[in-house]
Amino acid sequence: MTTQSTSDNDFLVYNDFFDGSNDDIHSMILDGSNRYIQKVSGNGLNIDNSILNSIANNNSIYIENGYLKNSPVLSNLYYFDENHIIRSINDVYDFFDKLVSEFPFYVNRVDRGVDALGNHIYEYAFTPPPKRVQGVAISYSLPTKITIMAGIHGSERAAIINLMIFCYNLCHNPNGLENYSKIRSSMQLIVVPAINPSGVNSRNRVNSNGVDLNRNFPTEWSNADGSKGDSPLSELESRIALDIFNAHPDSLCNLSLHGHGLEKQLFWMGSHKEWTLRLSNKVLNEVLAFYHDQMPFDTDKSLTLNYLSNNTAGTLDRHLQIGLNKSSILLEFSGVNELLGNNIVCSRVLGEVMLKKTIFEILETHQQSLILKSFTN
Ligand SMILES: [Zn+2]
Repeated sequence: MTTQSTSDNDFLVYNDFFDGSNDDIHSMILDGSNRYIQKVSGNGLNIDNSILNSIANNNSIYIENGYLKNSPVLSNLYYFDENHIIRSINDVYDFFDKLVSEFPFYVNRVDRGVDALGNHIYEYAFTPPPKRVQGVAISYSLPTKITIMAGIHGSERAAIINLMIFCYNLCHNPNGLENYSKIRSSMQLIVVPAINPSGVNSRNRVNSNGVDLNRNFPTEWSNADGSKGDSPLSELESRIALDIFNAHPDSLCNLSLHGHGLEKQLFWMGSHKEWTLRLSNKVLNEVLAFYHDQMPFDTDKSLTLNYLSNNTAGTLDRHLQIGLNKSSILLEFSGVNELLGNNIVCSRVLGEVMLKKTIFEILETHQQSLILKSFTN
């Protein structure tokens, strides 16, 4: 039996009430004074949302891996409409700035410049303490480092919100949720929540000049489609993006976060290098299994829902990999659609799982490669 609670005002959720005869999970919910409220039955997410809503009101309870868990602020990010969570870029930065003030030893902010309308592009570093080393290479003291960039298409709010959910859990709930503690203690994450802040404000794919920033990068720019700008790197935001990567030459991989809306696949990842494609393929397999296991409706196992691709001409990811020989992976989160029962929570849970699995696989792959490299020495 497990219990999770964070304050007197929270609900206590006792998990693991298996009855042994089937796969149902039973959870008992008590209020902050240990008064019994309700027992909830169901397999994974197969719990009546009206029960959840009546108990949780608009907060406190969410679901992961078939377990009800509670977290006071988190659930707003799981439940609320995307245009309510992000009314403007200020809401995004207020969220991350709060993490900086609450966790000053872990999160800090760097100003990387402004776009054409004067909107700031901030970078947030999530940094674990270094290890103490003696007599061994200094590299042993360093965390596995990656960059994460969201919001290059300002209208794709799923990308930013799933990143907010991930970062919130990383700071507030690392020890209750699968793999967050390992990521927090062993990885440095350089997070750019909105590389196109004016596009976030206007809810547009393009920036304030009408340019699709993700077609504005030099590698095969001449073949790029859409509003790619007058020339490669014509836009401030594109140049700032490359400045950020130049500032972190020791980053192992970049993740570019998008939201693909209503396309027929649910899970889309794109890359070029062999190791990032194989890693993406593994993540896609695991997320698809999670979808079939955990979604609260019958899922058709014959449908093709995974999509693995290269990155197209003029994109940031193609330029990073082919132009600059860095590693990068595109993650396209699914919007709310009929494959998800038009359910916001399902969309957010799947987005979080996809992002977290990708990050965790990079950590595991990196650590394993360091061990194997030394195996022959
Ligand atoms: Zn996009």
